Amino acid sequence: MQTVAPTRGGGVGRHAEIHGDERAERVPEHSERERASTGTERASEPVGAGARCEQAPARATSGGGLDSSQINAPSQVRGSNESRRERWRRRHTSARFLRALMAEDPRGAFAKPVRPARCSWTLGPVVPVMYDGSKPAGYGALERCASIWCCPHCSAVIRAGRAAEIEQAVTAHQKAGKAVVFFTGTARHHQGDKLDVTLGAVLGAWSRLRRNKGWRLMKQQFGITGYIRSIEVTGNFSADGHGWHPHCHALIFLERDLTDSELASLQATLFGYWSRAVVAEGGKEPTENGLDLQKVDKDGKVLAHYLGKLQDKKKWSAGAEMARFDAKKSRGGIVPFELLDDDSDLPEWRRAELWREYYLATKGRRAITWSRGLKDLYTVEEVEDEQILAEAESTVMAWRTTSKAFRELRKVDVELLALALESVERGDWETVNQLLPADVDFQQHGQQILWWEKKKKKLASPKAS
Ligand SMILES: [Zn+2]
Repeated sequence: MQTVAPTRGGGVGRHAEIHGDERAERVPEHSERERASTGTERASEPVGAGARCEQAPARATSGGGLDSSQINAPSQVRGSNESRRERWRRRHTSARFLRALMAEDPRGAFAKPVRPARCSWTLGPVVPVMYDGSKPAGYGALERCASIWCCPHCSAVIRAGRAAEIEQAVTAHQKAGKAVVFFTGTARHHQGDKLDVTLGAVLGAWSRLRRNKGWRLMKQQFGITGYIRSIEVTGNFSADGHGWHPHCHALIFLERDLTDSELASLQATLFGYWSRAVVAEGGKEPTENGLDLQKVDKDGKVLAHYLGKLQDKKKWSAGAEMARFDAKKSRGGIVPFELLDDDSDLPEWRRAELWREYYLATKGRRAITWSRGLKDLYTVEEVEDEQILAEAESTVMAWRTTSKAFRELRKVDVELLALALESVERGDWETVNQLLPADVDFQQHGQQILWWEKKKKKLASPKAS
């Protein structure tokens, strides 16, 4: 059976375009691509019941093991089938919500839907199913959006990759006996505040903080050698909720360990600069609850302040806490992907409106940035989001169907496309053939199934001594 490299969208250059010290926070858009990501983002914090506008990070109290799937592999590798179906369903709903933006496009009926709304469109007459037994099954020859912000599918893979990079740097830094602190900065916000404005204020505040000469003084005083920053967005849109809640997280790398009093002093100093920077960027002045600083513990973990029921009582690795926004739940509020779920208290028109606002506000923004030189220091390779996506996939063609069959199945129920992948992974070719009949050429060559059958035989045969 041949091995076919999937021809998905997206090239793979290896240069470092995005990750340097932050340049403009808004990336110029190239043909609608969201290049902003570079990394990861994560966020989850609610604005919950009883919270004033800004989240006072409620301290979690327990430790506990980190689920390594948060960082070690894209969640479709280790995640449940249920979560894969959820991602397919959410992506489908996202496309539906985002298609309304075409009506606002001056090109009108000739405009294409925006890129995340085209993710999983077929690119040719056939759709190969790729599976090599070690990585999850997936479809080839499909368009992919590589959106770290808005694609329930692509962002899970990209964020897992970015979390692993962060992990690598934190581990190496700690191994050298140096400390890392975890910063969270927010601004006050209310229902009705535009996300574009509040997100801009939080992002701008971080840039401003670093440009301030106070940052240079802090660098000297506390031995700051670098940082990684990410942005998360959560929200609470219930009647008494406080609307969008963007916040900034940063891992700040230090030359040495800090005493508790030094940490408190760093927090107080940062708070002064942070609150002035937020106001200067058009945001509302944060209260003292608007900033939190904690040490990353010896195992590279942080208390996950903002996590909801799923991950309660766990510590997350610093990498997962920074990057796995896609895998989180917000306590007392929602993470944006939950706008794509039907079982919501919000009516569909409202969810669609909020989702479009989220798409437009995050488009072109950098989700994660590293300070200059930090990646080199810890030999973290510069990799584009598209490459992370490509590397997460099987490269062996195990099945092939027509694009027509693929599209028809999607029309029936998009989760069936996820179910077909599950069936491939189980070797249940009968079901696969029912859902996605093998295309004629593929059948004529008698190729279907053979690859997997051969592999099974090989596994079953005794090893040559
Ligand atoms: Zn996508």
